Amino acid sequence: MMPLRSGGFVSTLRCAMLRDDLIPSEERIFARIEEVFAQGVRRPGYPADRWAEQYCEDRFRTLGLERVRAEPVELPYWDPKRAALTVVTSGGATIDVPCFPLPHAAPTAGLDAELVELRDDKPAAVAGKIALCDVRLGRLPYDVLARRATWCFDPDGTFPGQAQVLPFGRGAQAVMEPAIEAGAVAFVGSLTDYPSDSRNYYVPYDAVERPIPGVWISGSDGARLRELLARGAVSAHLVVESEQRSITCYNIVGELPGADEELVIIGSHHDGPWASAVEDGSGIALVLAQAEYWSAVPRADRPHRLVFLLNAGHMAGGAGVRAFIEAHREELERVVLELHLEHAANECVESADGTLTPTGQPEARWWFTTQIAPLEDAVRNALEAEDLRRSFILPPNVFGPHPTTDGGPFHTAGVPLVNFLTAPFYLFDEQDTLDKIHRPSLVPVTRAAIRLVGATAAWSAAELRSANATAAGQASA
Ligand SMILES: [Zn+2]
Repeated sequence: MMPLRSGGFVSTLRCAMLRDDLIPSEERIFARIEEVFAQGVRRPGYPADRWAEQYCEDRFRTLGLERVRAEPVELPYWDPKRAALTVVTSGGATIDVPCFPLPHAAPTAGLDAELVELRDDKPAAVAGKIALCDVRLGRLPYDVLARRATWCFDPDGTFPGQAQVLPFGRGAQAVMEPAIEAGAVAFVGSLTDYPSDSRNYYVPYDAVERPIPGVWISGSDGARLRELLARGAVSAHLVVESEQRSITCYNIVGELPGADEELVIIGSHHDGPWASAVEDGSGIALVLAQAEYWSAVPRADRPHRLVFLLNAGHMAGGAGVRAFIEAHREELERVVLELHLEHAANECVESADGTLTPTGQPEARWWFTTQIAPLEDAVRNALEAEDLRRSFILPPNVFGPHPTTDGGPFHTAGVPLVNFLTAPFYLFDEQDTLDKIHRPSLVPVTRAAIRLVGATAAWSAAELRSANATAAGQASA
């Protein structure tokens, strides 16, 4: 892996002020996650998400933030009312297969067709049929990621030779597309090899209305259907009833004045696919911890104006962050840093009884960081100071045009960012429950974030953006 480049600004980087007495405790941060989780399924516009909007706004007001507001975000609402898949074998046996509908895919009052497996070598065989598709979560070897990382912090040597199960398979959000392109009339996705044999998988979450209905079934049910298909033709009956309409959700924003009027944004999102403790009950709690800390220090000790942002609609294609960027485009030049905090997660494995068990280790931490040397140095210093092991500093474009985070679009908008994310495979699954929170991470991640915000005291927005050029100029002088 590559060593960090050292920048010309390193010597001027002040140590972040860190008031130990003002750091919220692990119990306090976790209690907020419990409170959010207890409200139930927090999809955009659901009652629990409306509660979360109000809760975040109330917390911001109670902490004395100024300009507290709810900024509207138009987005598509989706509520599945019923989904049922019944198959009939060539021998006449009728079998009900438990299923979960794919978000925002077309509803159907009742569709009857032959079930045919979608195979890479014979895609046309599913034309006019219901396609049975194999979807397997990806495995990312840590060694591969380390080679693409700017820096890797793993003093215990937990990464070499190991791999992480990702929450996505091939195609990521585009799971239905091969079946649609092949002319299938419906999609049945078998989650083959999915740890714990779940079917409650909230993907895709780009909120695109796809033209055919689709459901997820467990990997074991998928294997059973393949056995039946090997013995003869299988017909299927599919029903998916869902409510889809356009609604208004809200990005919750609050501010604290600082030493100058340039901006540091500290964000996450308030919605989630289920009651979702990690995704992003933990993000809400981590942003509230920052608001609590920074509201308690004198204004002069806040390096810039601080903007706290809890976005709507992450599960609707990141509608909230896109709306925020659009509404505030003329201010983006004044943003010194956009810091997003998502997912204090336990690494989990499937136990012999099929349940998910935390290993006790944190899931590998990804710190997407704009490739500006002093910023990368500040992240590395914060991670080492707080002993945040199992961390990678990653270039923002390591997996695509921008980080795979709620804050990612700030990168393509030209804003320097540090986006913290872990991506456990259960992120979009109903099994993202309170036991998935890596509690020992809550305070160290909070402290590291405070150090990063503190480090911005050394920079103006323009200075940080030109730091690489300055460092290069000094090197050649
Ligand atoms: Zn998240």
